Amino acid sequence: MSGELGVKQYGRVVRIPSPTGFSVGDINSYVILPPEGSEQLVLIDTGVGSQTAWDALQAGLGQFGYRVEDIRLLLLTHGHTDHFGQATRIREVSGCEVWGHEAIDMTVSRYLPSAEDEARERVFLRRLGLDDALYDKAYAYRSYIADVYTPCEPDRLLADGDRIAVEDFELETIHTPGHCPEEVVYWQPDSRQMFSGDHLLPDITPVCLLHIPATPDGVRTHALTQYYQSADKILPLDVRTVYPSHGDVFRDHRELIAGYKLSTDRRLLKIARILEQHGALTPLEVGQYLFPKAWEAQLYAVISEVMGHLDMLLDYAMVETEERGELLRYRLLRVPGPGEIFGAAA
Ligand SMILES: [Zn+2]
Repeated sequence: MSGELGVKQYGRVVRIPSPTGFSVGDINSYVILPPEGSEQLVLIDTGVGSQTAWDALQAGLGQFGYRVEDIRLLLLTHGHTDHFGQATRIREVSGCEVWGHEAIDMTVSRYLPSAEDEARERVFLRRLGLDDALYDKAYAYRSYIADVYTPCEPDRLLADGDRIAVEDFELETIHTPGHCPEEVVYWQPDSRQMFSGDHLLPDITPVCLLHIPATPDGVRTHALTQYYQSADKILPLDVRTVYPSHGDVFRDHRELIAGYKLSTDRRLLKIARILEQHGALTPLEVGQYLFPKAWEAQLYAVISEVMGHLDMLLDYAMVETEERGELLRYRLLRVPGPGEIFGAAA
């Protein structure tokens, strides 16, 4: 998928894709070019910390007469390595500031947990059906991730609604958790343009990553339910252009969200039918029925996906949980009716 989109200009906005090495393919960084007589060059998201990604960014900026050294402000949509991987290096050569949401975590511990955190994760996932061997498989991707970022401390933490003074292009920060806790989209209200990060992606449904609480008795976020609360928050905006982190620039975010709701509705129904047929199941077993071929190769994504949907069914009182021995199982209470979860809009 690498390089299929290419560098492209949309008025003051320039898209620069770079390869990630992940199955998602390229990530788009966006540049906001300074107006005449100004030097305020703004970058949104960086690509992974690899020489290839660095060269792609440098070459893309070069097409407009700029260099990485000229960047004045770096905004991050969230703290995943393809979005901030080379933030520290960019700040070192340019002296720019790095801003992101107040919940952003770009430390080593997010991707290389301490022995204590790992033990807690293992206990947590064992309840969902993943034994130690499957735990190792689910997190095998971490060894690749460790090579593609440098930890980063942001210079300023943004909150929902914070305005960012970009010359003649003021941005509003909108907190849109779901894909991860700290995700934001950046919204330019006058020209109705939105930088959507991984919140809205034209070709794939964003994965809402499983949240494991920091303490054994901590409250777990229902990521998929939270995702749709965020989607509903940006739904009323009259958006003209959406700049996603992966895939091509697009126009109709309402149509996209309606499509997401439709596919989530279908998956909720499918999971309900699986539980109806097989009785109470662990999340891993649901994943095995749902993705009979892919579940093992994509284990972390699969368990995130399954838990997101089971949480949602739980939030709507369509399943109940039962604890037996070490395992957590979900039992169907009733199959969701058409439009029952997302209403007529779906
Ligand atoms: Zn992401």
